[in-house]
Amino acid sequence: MRPVWAEVDLGAIAANTAALVARSSPARVCAVVKADGYGHGAVASARAALAGGADLLAVALVAEGAELREAGIDARVLVLSQASPDELDDLVAHGLDATVYTDEGIRDLGAAAARRAGGPRVRVHLKVDTGMHRVGAQPADAVGLAKAVDADAALELASAFTHCAVADEPANPFTDVQLARFDAVLGDIARAGIDVPCQHAANTAAAIDHPGARRDLVRVGIGLYGIDPSPALAGRLPLTPALSLHARASHVKRVAAGEGISYGLRYRPERETTIATVPLGYADGLPRRLGELGGSVLLGGRRRPIAGSVTMDQILVDCGDDPVEVGDEVVLIGRQGDLEITAADWASQLGTIAYEVVCAISPRVPRRYREPS
Ligand SMILES: *Cc1c(COP(=O)(O)O)cnc(C)c1O
Repeated sequence: MRPVWAEVDLGAIAANTAALVARSSPARVCAVVKADGYGHGAVASARAALAGGADLLAVALVAEGAELREAGIDARVLVLSQASPDELDDLVAHGLDATVYTDEGIRDLGAAAARRAGGPRVRVHLKVDTGMHRVGAQPADAVGLAKAVDADAALELASAFTHCAVADEPANPFTDVQLARFDAVLGDIARAGIDVPCQHAANTAAAIDHPGARRDLVRVGIGLYGIDPSPALAGRLPLTPALSLHARASHVKRVAAGEGISYGLRYRPERETTIATVPLGYADGLPRRLGELGGSVLLGGRRRPIAGSVTMDQILVDCGDDPVEVGDEVVLIGRQGDLEITAADWASQLGTIAYEVVCAISPRVPRRYREPS
């Protein structure tokens, strides 16, 4: 077996969920497990989040919801964007909650719900675009859409929601602008005599830092996995990273001073040194530029630089004059002894966010689950 694995601590996901539940209460928690649970495994993460007190789940795609159902998870599952027409029969058959924001979307969903005669009404969540301009109804259209849902006997209006564009920047006033627009829409819908039983707006950042966004429900993703939504919110709620990334050295050699290492030969140690090969690369989700941007790994209880370019299947690590052997454990994300490398460390070196780092860890890396003790 290839000596590469990601370990996912399910107890950490449950504990992080519990911390988010405590912070957000009385709002309920919707655990976002899209993109294979941000790389942590959707089914295992969903179960851990439910054990930690989440009330419902959310995914990006109908297929992601189907995976949860096929694994036997019967919690409510919200699909966060409006599904395309050819996905609607699956959405209905799997009993997923739908998001809508256009007349056509409501009409097609109503038709799919009616085709499944005798089934329960399909729960519908009206998404309002209050300023991010990704998906959602324009505020002026929201009342008409709510009426259309209300008028369809096969559909049940379960909530109205919006999504915050800058909640990860605590001082940015635009979150309050979005919430004010959302409140105006909710007022319009109420005046039209339509009951909206639930409203939600917060992602992890807003759940942690913006009490006015918490409403009836918070939709938390990144925090479940123990990752701060942004450096500006680091440590605001104590969370435990659930994922660590490991490998074992596969080859070790001495290299003479001045030799070039890896593609391009740009890494040139000034002294003779020991170079260890570690068998994972950009096909596993280590960005190619991580080495050149100062990336390091933990090996033998020390932090050691990645030498030169990350290659598709392997990286090279400069171990100096320390004794290193084939089979030694290498930590790429996680702890070894007193040292730690986080997904946020990679993100700051790469000029991206920790979300992208964990989502990029490819399916080629086997996930090993640590059950809560
Ligand atoms: C992904 C997503 C979330 C979760 O965001 P986090 O920042 O990971 O907490 C919430 N709502 C919507 C609509 C999303 O797309």
